[in-house]
Amino acid sequence: MEQVVCSLGSNLGVRDQNIAAAISALKSYDIFHIKTAPLYETAPVGLTDQPSFLNTAIIFRSAIAAADLLEIMLGIERGLGRSRRVRWGPRTIDIDIIFYGSERIVQERLTIPHPRFAMRKFVLVPLSDLIPGFVPPGFSQPVAGLLQACGDESDVRLYRAETD
Ligand code: ATP
Ligand code: CA
Ligand code: CA
Repeated sequence: MEQVVCSLGSNLGVRDQNIAAAISALKSYDIFHIKTAPLYETAPVGLTDQPSFLNTAIIFRSAIAAADLLEIMLGIERGLGRSRRVRWGPRTIDIDIIFYGSERIVQERLTIPHPRFAMRKFVLVPLSDLIPGFVPPGFSQPVAGLLQACGDESDVRLYRAETD
């Protein structure tokens, strides 16, 4: 079993319901001890002319291989009506795999740790709630330190403590 960490975001439709539905869909697979960070409302970065996001992070244990987990996440996204038109554009749900144990994976369709997590406050804030002391593979600082060091000054504010 590995400890898996994912980031979730939604900025289309009923955002909190989309996130709750994604987490609930994941529970039908062999994943255990799932814990969820609070929901944060966050200003869009990259493509800024779009609605604000709700973001959170989850941690769970699973023996499912990383590549298979990616397919599961992409399937849940499709099931919730995600379409891919514009890079970094609005979406009903986005699920990124941030960490898979202490593994580093570079495959055509999958890079872990997620290549952009350390530059994103909307990822690091909920991660710091769950695993502040975890030092990601390839990094010399724990998650809480990466948040302190991150230059992202975009707005991330607590929306609700519970995801459902
Ligand atoms: P970003 O990756 O910058 O957060 P995004 O989440 O909007 O952007 P998507 O369109 O959701 O990008 O994903 C594009 C592809 O990224 C996916 O089809 C998947 O193959 C690939 N990918 C690579 N590494 C990961 C990962 N760690 N988690 C999820 N998808 C990944
Ligand atoms: Ca993403
Ligand atoms: Ca994604």
